Amino acid sequence: EFCFAQDQIVTSQSAHLHPMDIGLIRGYGIFDFFRTSNYTPLFLSDYLDRFIRSAEKTHLSLKFSKLELEAIIRELIDKNDLSDGGIRMLLTGGVSDNHFSPTNGSLFIFNEALDFPSTEKYEKGIKLLPIEHVRYIADIKTTNYAFPVWHSNIWKKEGAEDVLYHLNGQVSESSRSNIFIIKDGEIATPDQHILHGITRKRVIELAPEVKIRPVSFEELIHAEEAFITSTTKKILPVTKLGDRKIGSGKVGTKTLQLIDSFAKMEQKSSQN
Ligand code: PLP
Repeated sequence: EFCFAQDQIVTSQSAHLHPMDIGLIRGYGIFDFFRTSNYTPLFLSDYLDRFIRSAEKTHLSLKFSKLELEAIIRELIDKNDLSDGGIRMLLTGGVSDNHFSPTNGSLFIFNEALDFPSTEKYEKGIKLLPIEHVRYIADIKTTNYAFPVWHSNIWKKEGAEDVLYHLNGQVSESSRSNIFIIKDGEIATPDQHILHGITRKRVIELAPEVKIRPVSFEELIHAEEAFITSTTKKILPVTKLGDRKIGSGKVGTKTLQLIDSFAKMEQKSSQN
């Protein structure tokens, strides 16, 4: 298996990161993650734009242009000969003498096999555990997921799939996905304190009537349907919030329709 490390494609075993990299010492780094299907990176342009934007906003130095990154990714998929998988991009602050000043940074691109949630989860829906929290610098894909990793102990014990962040009565997102609710035929998704997911963007394209507006915790509790979106989960129905059922507690028809249209959209994208 091969990966891109610093400035070349190498075997994954030979890739290394200096232990004094401020990505490790200070959590100063960004990443992104997308999927490949039929050797084609899905919605690549959007993910690269987000990766470049995260680097710019955090002043991390990225030596490669969008076109160069695209070429590296295509070469990597070719070399690994993995038709369906994931691509993880990682950019750290680099080694710094005072452990504080970003230097050249280290860029890694991994091409890995990928598991999806079980069919049962798509059929029955999943449970989210509500937590009062809001992500700091929410719209940058920083590597700092210490809080979600730490919290995973709690939601795993509760049989949940993840958490649902809410604060001051407003819902934002889950720790690794965005949220949508459906009530009286209206689909809505919050826009504040979230990472603007690429899957979320696709759903808004599929259903342009989606209202992008604040969503209160009350509304979520009384929604008829709810679902989360992310690159690895696609569109995953949410049927429980803590101990409460959402709607009838069954996966809703509108959610099923969107799951279906999203699959078709992806198929089209992988044939381009
Ligand atoms: N929100 C957070 C905090 C995330 O980490 C992610 C994905 O990792 C998402 C939302 C969903 O984004 P995407 O659909 O681009 O995977």
